[in-house]
Amino acid sequence: MRRAVLSFAFLLAAVSVRAQDTRPTFSVGTATAARGTTAMGSLVVPAASDSGLRIAVAVIHGARPGPVVAFVAGAHGTEYASIIALQRLISRIDARRLRGTVVIVPLLNVASFLAMKPHVNPVDGKGMNGVYPGDSVGTQSQRALALITREIVIPSDYVVDLHGGDLDENLRPYSYWFRGGRAAQDSASRALVMAFGLDHVFVNDVNPDAPNAGRSLSGQALVRGKAVVVAEAGRSGIVTPEDVALLVNGSLNVLGALKMTDRLLHAARRTTWLGGGGRAGGNWSARVAADSAGVFIATATRDQRVRKNETIGYTTDYLGRRTGDIRSPINGLITFIRGVPSMWPKATLVNVAPILAAPPAWVAP
Ligand SMILES: [Zn+2]
Repeated sequence: MRRAVLSFAFLLAAVSVRAQDTRPTFSVGTATAARGTTAMGSLVVPAASDSGLRIAVAVIHGARPGPVVAFVAGAHGTEYASIIALQRLISRIDARRLRGTVVIVPLLNVASFLAMKPHVNPVDGKGMNGVYPGDSVGTQSQRALALITREIVIPSDYVVDLHGGDLDENLRPYSYWFRGGRAAQDSASRALVMAFGLDHVFVNDVNPDAPNAGRSLSGQALVRGKAVVVAEAGRSGIVTPEDVALLVNGSLNVLGALKMTDRLLHAARRTTWLGGGGRAGGNWSARVAADSAGVFIATATRDQRVRKNETIGYTTDYLGRRTGDIRSPINGLITFIRGVPSMWPKATLVNVAPILAAPPAWVAP
């Protein structure tokens, strides 16, 4: 316990405030906040080859200067718990007492939300967490992300990207520690992930010099030198108070860790480290994807530990005749499993993550 507290204190020292934005007003899109006030407005994506879009944004410009932190959710517009969490976060931050500036975008992918279409923007079929840095003359997703890169990512010192289990994902909460092999940036990100406070953390290694490293929001922020937190809670279209509280409290903890508020932080709980993307010491998550259309029935659940080749579900045709068993590809923890019977080719059926004793050294993927 003592060891945990000491290392946490050390990590907090590593995120000592690195920026002092002294602008009297702070603008994002149509929202301009004077010091000590909160302003609300929109990022306006004009129509071009397809329809335009207004993305709602809140700017909380603290009475005193400090770093700029951006919170974004709803790149996947049906990951509802994360969207509701950022709505609620706005009123939990008092601009008169804040040091620095907080920018909050609760819902990036408005068309996904309105159409209840998971994973992609139904206007152009693109993923809104996969085409950064965007393109100002591209389709709606590309134009929107070009604006997000310019107005949200570039002016920020820290970026927090919230997700959760989508309509078809039965997910347990976790966060990601994205590492690019730059020691100061990686330790600042780790400190914020620890402060956020979710008890399961994926270790994801990124090579910031790789051509595709900046395709996601976290990757785009990482290649631009920002400390990054990605956290997920919520599942299957349900908004539970517990999942929303994990994300709201985690976000407030980040502001406390950055000394932007006076929020007291508790020492980190015991962390379960999970192998994510990249190499992470040779241990990474494994997904099973459907090879055909049909019906999936889960027999295991989120947060269950499984062994390699253990059955986690089965598939049937539309008359209920069994067409196959789905088995875990590795020993590990089910971080999410398909939460609905609908199954199409390449649909993810399960994600199993290896449990790591400790985060291994960064290795270029
Ligand atoms: Zn998502």
